[in-house]
Amino acid sequence: MERTLLHDLSKAPVGPASHLIDGLSQAASDGGTMDVISPLNGTRLTTMARGTVEDAEAAIAAARAAFDDGRWSGLAPAARKKILLKWADLIEAKAQELAVLGVRDNGTEIAMALKAEPLSAAGTIRYFAEAIDKIYGEIAPTAPGTLGLVHKEPVGVVGAIVPWNFPLMIGAWKLGPALAAGCTVVLKPAETASLTLLEIAKLALDAGLPPGVLNVVTGEGAVVGATIAESNAVDALVFTGSGATGRRLLEASARSNFKRVYLELGGKSPNVVFADAPDLDEAAKVSAYGIFRNSGQVCVAGSRLLVERSIHDAFVEKLKQVAETMVVGDPLNPETSAGAINSEAQLEQNLRFVAEARAAGRQIVTGGERILQETGGYYMAPTIVAGVSPEDAIAQEEVFGPVLAVIPFDSEDEAVAIANGTDFGLAAAVWTADLSRAHRMVRRIKAGVVHVNTYGGADVTVPLGGVKQSGNGHDKSLHAFDKFFDLKTAWIKL
Ligand code: NAD
Repeated sequence: MERTLLHDLSKAPVGPASHLIDGLSQAASDGGTMDVISPLNGTRLTTMARGTVEDAEAAIAAARAAFDDGRWSGLAPAARKKILLKWADLIEAKAQELAVLGVRDNGTEIAMALKAEPLSAAGTIRYFAEAIDKIYGEIAPTAPGTLGLVHKEPVGVVGAIVPWNFPLMIGAWKLGPALAAGCTVVLKPAETASLTLLEIAKLALDAGLPPGVLNVVTGEGAVVGATIAESNAVDALVFTGSGATGRRLLEASARSNFKRVYLELGGKSPNVVFADAPDLDEAAKVSAYGIFRNSGQVCVAGSRLLVERSIHDAFVEKLKQVAETMVVGDPLNPETSAGAINSEAQLEQNLRFVAEARAAGRQIVTGGERILQETGGYYMAPTIVAGVSPEDAIAQEEVFGPVLAVIPFDSEDEAVAIANGTDFGLAAAVWTADLSRAHRMVRRIKAGVVHVNTYGGADVTVPLGGVKQSGNGHDKSLHAFDKFFDLKTAWIKL
């Protein structure tokens, strides 16, 4: 991005943010607001509406009416496609503004934010828009006297609750297929990353999305999110966030209308490096970025490094060198390789994990502390902790920060046992030149995605979903549509 533009955008005033309900910008019903604190310097960026139960209910009612009268689901798929493609174009045209606004709100480094946020969101929306007029129902292989038709119908009103780490990318994973399928949506962004989602929702109106089809309510999860989760007028919930919230959503569904609940939760993803990895320098570099980019605030981050003992010391040394050359700091500097921690609370949680490991005698190879405190922002040095036992909290619980736990192993079986030895199953990686071993490991590791000789980068063409306590259902790929279609059988006597 051109430096003058980046400078201008990073200083541009940000107006107070309101909900978007039934096509209109609306303040909270009681006038309440909450401060939006920038993690870059700890100062107030702007304010946003603090949603009330009434606000969430108004948005749900708008989405319900918009679904039931068919203003969106009743359009031909090709007509929905046209509007969604225009929406993607508008997002792309404003990509730089959106990226900078997002960085000021959530702290992701700009080089990554531009690609991973607006541009990725536009690409995802385009992918699902392009697909929707190529999806057919089925004719069942019945006996000649009957005709069995299987229709795919939009599930209805979708509640989408998303986290702060990649609001546009993850938001688009939900909005793209839900809207393409003909559903209407009430979107609840995270408290610390709402601004860009509000902006793209307004762009959807400009693209021709009818009012009420996409509603955004900002505020606290326990108020706005909980109201959406408990509502009998919401047919499905799609969620990315923590396991604790996911559990509440399932309980809310059980207490209300058994709405379908699809959860993308956390991970403690194992990155397994065998001594025969084709290029250990490349493995070290990619592994370091696999945990430290966006300061580890990536659901699929490779936060556990399992290294074959014969190369353990040499590999950890290589990793240390990469970690120490990474530029941590102002995420609006294009040279920065890891930006800010999203909030002070998250930074404190990261430091608590490190303190516990230190107290247990684990080796802090590099990092381990808050840095750049003079900026007022929330920054942490890339941290490598070696000598970790697979049972340690740092190897079992999601830190969601720039903290890598290193564990040695002696055999393939032991690597598999450690890799599978947590409650999670989101992502993993295997580094080896042995093709058979690579395939064996892909089969044996319990995870939604297993990378081989790389880490990250799996695009929209492939599904992402967790197993075990990392969730259920899939974002991305044509499989993402499954969450938003109901199957209806027509059984016809001929
Ligand atoms: P979180 O669960 O605290 O919040 C996520 C969303 O849920 C926010 O919008 C929040 O406002 C809302 N929420 C909070 N309490 C709620 C309640 N009682 N009822 C309804 N909604 C509520 O998680 P977070 O801290 O924002 O995000 C970090 C977590 O997300 C990490 O654990 C990370 O691994 C996970 N994550 C997973 C993926 C994935 O694809 N699996 C991707 C990104 C992040």
